[in-house]
Amino acid sequence: MDRASDYGSEGWGFEFLRARFFYIVMDDHTLWMRFALQEARKARDKNEVPIGAVVVHEGRIIGRGHNLVETLQDPTAHAEMLAITSAANSLASWRLDDTILYVTLEPCSMCAGAILLARIPTIIFGATDPRYGACGSAVQIANTDSLDIHANIIHGILEPECKKILQDFFAEIRQRGD
Ligand SMILES: [Zn+2]
Repeated sequence: MDRASDYGSEGWGFEFLRARFFYIVMDDHTLWMRFALQEARKARDKNEVPIGAVVVHEGRIIGRGHNLVETLQDPTAHAEMLAITSAANSLASWRLDDTILYVTLEPCSMCAGAILLARIPTIIFGATDPRYGACGSAVQIANTDSLDIHANIIHGILEPECKKILQDFFAEIRQRGD
C-alpha cells in the first residue's frame, strides 16, 4: 500500500492536504481572476470579445458578468457593468463598499466611471488596454485627483492568460476573414 492510498483509507486525509496545498500556493487574487477568466470564456463561446468580471465580497462572488455587447446589441453590456448590476442586486444596494472587482482587461472609461459610482474601492485587472484603458493606459479615470472618488488599482494578475484569450479570439476572426 503506497502512502497516498494509506491516506485515502483515512477517508479525507490526502485529498484534504492536497486541497490545502493548492489553496496556499494560489493567492486570492489569482484565484478570483480565474473565475473572471471563466466568465471571459463564456463570452468567447458566444462569439463575443472574451472579457469577464467578478465582484467579490467577504470571500465570495456576489456578481459575475461577461461581455454581451453583440448578443444584447447594447454598447453598455460590458463585463464589468453586468457584474456590478448583478452584485448590486445581490446586496440589494447600489453601494458596493468592501468589494473587489476582478476583470480580465483594464476597464474602459464607462466601466471605470461605474466602478467609482458604485464605490468599489479596488479594481484588479489582468491585461492592460492601450486603446481604451481608463486605469492609466489610455486615460486615468479610476484613480485621479481631479475626481472626488478613487479606486485602488492592481494589475497584471494572470496577465498572460487574460491577454492570450483575447489574442486567440482576434487571430481566429482574422483567419475566418470576418
Ligand atoms: Zn467597459
